[in-house]
Amino acid sequence: MRKLIASPSGWLLTESPDPVARAGEAVVRVTRALIDPQWATGARASGVSPGREFVGTVVSTGPGGLEGRRVMASASIACSECDLCRAGLSVHCRNRSELGVARDGAMAERVALPATALHEIPKGLDDDRACFASALGRALHAADFVRLEGKPYVTIVGDDAVALLSAQVMTQRNASVRVLGREETRFGLCEKWGVKHRHIDQVGRRADQDVVFVCSDAPGDLEIALRLARPRATVLLVAPQSRSLEKDHSAIQVLHASEIALIGSRGERLAEALRLLATDGVDVRSLLTARYRFSQYADAFARAARPDTLRVLLEAA
Ligand SMILES: [Zn+2]
Repeated sequence: MRKLIASPSGWLLTESPDPVARAGEAVVRVTRALIDPQWATGARASGVSPGREFVGTVVSTGPGGLEGRRVMASASIACSECDLCRAGLSVHCRNRSELGVARDGAMAERVALPATALHEIPKGLDDDRACFASALGRALHAADFVRLEGKPYVTIVGDDAVALLSAQVMTQRNASVRVLGREETRFGLCEKWGVKHRHIDQVGRRADQDVVFVCSDAPGDLEIALRLARPRATVLLVAPQSRSLEKDHSAIQVLHASEIALIGSRGERLAEALRLLATDGVDVRSLLTARYRFSQYADAFARAARPDTLRVLLEAA
């Protein structure tokens, strides 16, 4: 089978043996996978296939009878056996492995995954929209940290796909939502959804927001988020802050002075996301920037590296 892997010189399409399902695993034939622009431009785990957002059909499995089902998977594979998994906290599994980092993701014709990580896609939900379950699941997980009393003021710092989904989810939950971004084309989407938006450089630091979602790791954005938050507000770290900390050294002082609750959010509510997508409850079609065949991966990754890209879809031939 063909498998795309990261190498120091870029992306390589390789010919690999078909994966074999070990005990408890299923082999999934990938029909669609999304390229996250961060994967196109960011750090790569060499020799590993990227791809955490995908849809496929189970082609072989051990006992469990999943053959023929359309599925997607959690990006974080849990062991199901450690104390945290057994306590229902599999997102914090002590032995978890991340797709596209510690094990192969879905930029391949087939991928073997534990059956426990798979989620069946409801009838009526097409493959294109189902690919967004992981991103929407992250937005729903973050939203569940927010205590909704009255109509809270919520600012979303960042304008990537998870940020825009968080904006839609929080608007539906009766919050007064504002997106602070940098990419002009995203503002048009916010208009379509009735979400307020501003360029991040044009906003005052009024310390009046009840909740701030940090969906960007751009240097300085965490500090902006903390300065927007009112005393005793909640600030949710939705994006991993891999680039931001050096420039955000004064952020901790703001955190202390305003007694802000800073909460990390990295889980995914996949079952809830699939239900919401099946009822067309959020607009994900607008987040699909372009689509390519798997064989056109070089063009697809070049498109994903452009700043106006939210997601690029790769389709099996
Ligand atoms: Zn575990």
